[in-house]
Amino acid sequence: MSVNQWIAQRTERFDSSGIRRMFALAAKVKDPINLSIGQPDFPVPAAVKQALIQAIEKDHNGYTPTEGIPALRQKIQSAVDKQFGHSDRRVIITSGTSGGLVLALMGCVNPGDEVIFFDPYFVMYPAIVELAGGRAVKINTYPDFRIDTDRLEAAITPRTKMILLNSPGNPTGVCYSAEEVRAVAEIAKRRDICLVSDEIYSQFSFDGPHHSPATYNDQTIVIDGFSKSHAMTGLRVGLMHGPAALMEVMAKLQQFTFVCAPAPVQWACLTACDLPPVDEMIKLKQKRDWLLQELGNDYEIANPGGAFYLFPKLPWGDGQSFIEAAVQEQLLVIPGNIFSDHDTHFRISYAVDERTLERGAAALKKLARTAVGV
Ligand code: PMP
Repeated sequence: MSVNQWIAQRTERFDSSGIRRMFALAAKVKDPINLSIGQPDFPVPAAVKQALIQAIEKDHNGYTPTEGIPALRQKIQSAVDKQFGHSDRRVIITSGTSGGLVLALMGCVNPGDEVIFFDPYFVMYPAIVELAGGRAVKINTYPDFRIDTDRLEAAITPRTKMILLNSPGNPTGVCYSAEEVRAVAEIAKRRDICLVSDEIYSQFSFDGPHHSPATYNDQTIVIDGFSKSHAMTGLRVGLMHGPAALMEVMAKLQQFTFVCAPAPVQWACLTACDLPPVDEMIKLKQKRDWLLQELGNDYEIANPGGAFYLFPKLPWGDGQSFIEAAVQEQLLVIPGNIFSDHDTHFRISYAVDERTLERGAAALKKLARTAVGV
């Protein structure tokens, strides 16, 4: 008898074969110019590493309250209170930003509920919507990746439960303006829809301040984390905040799933909170500006205001043929259809060292000028 009979149907409603194919391809390339990785190239700040080592040595290795250690929760709560001034907003610490996203979906979406998000989207969104039994409703934002509120209003039905917003965005790097964020926040409020804002790149907004919809809608659930801002992707601590009644439900779910975020890392995050990654952000902005200038003549690239991604239009062919040609140049980038219903773009991460960036730009220019089959 095959073990396949044991596989739950919910796992068959999404797949990760595209991203795994990419990893398999990457493993075969020698000395790759790797612009495919979604994590910073700078190390965890030294003071955070020290705090982590000390926490382990001081035996902070056991369970913590599911909402997080009081010191970290309180520290973030005061910053959140200062920023938003909402009397009913509560912070909990989660197992990464992904952990927070899973809690939000599991805690708010009933089977058959519709969840709206904007295409292109973070690769995990369709999967977590499906896991929760929801239905993904994608709003096309090509070619400029900005929000069209008429399209948003038109997508809302009596089954719409949630709008999932991500700015600065993965994979586009687009940062929504205060007006765009406010419009979405107000629509959600007026139509009684739960608004979840994935702000993991909030500190990576290069051309102006980051705007949170929670500023305009006090019921917004905000999800953020330390993975990108402090290069802690493998250390798995995130946070979420929102109306107290919802955070209680999230804590209940976390108690019986992830239990708590890793204890020593929570202690290290206390130090991370005091070390905003300003210098790293300046370097990343310079890399973005340099790359935009290098690629500007050969690629159409819309509005990459933040995160550390560009999402250029393919100069020719489809994602598969372009990615294969890129591999011939030792270059790894991600085809847009991993993040989208469309196969017209590709993602570059510029959070890499300067030499890799230079090699990448040279390979990309060469590729753009080499049409398929020529
Ligand atoms: N949201 C977005 C938009 C992301 O790009 C990522 C990481 N690639 C996450 C959430 C997940 O972050 P974490 O490592 O904190 O789970």
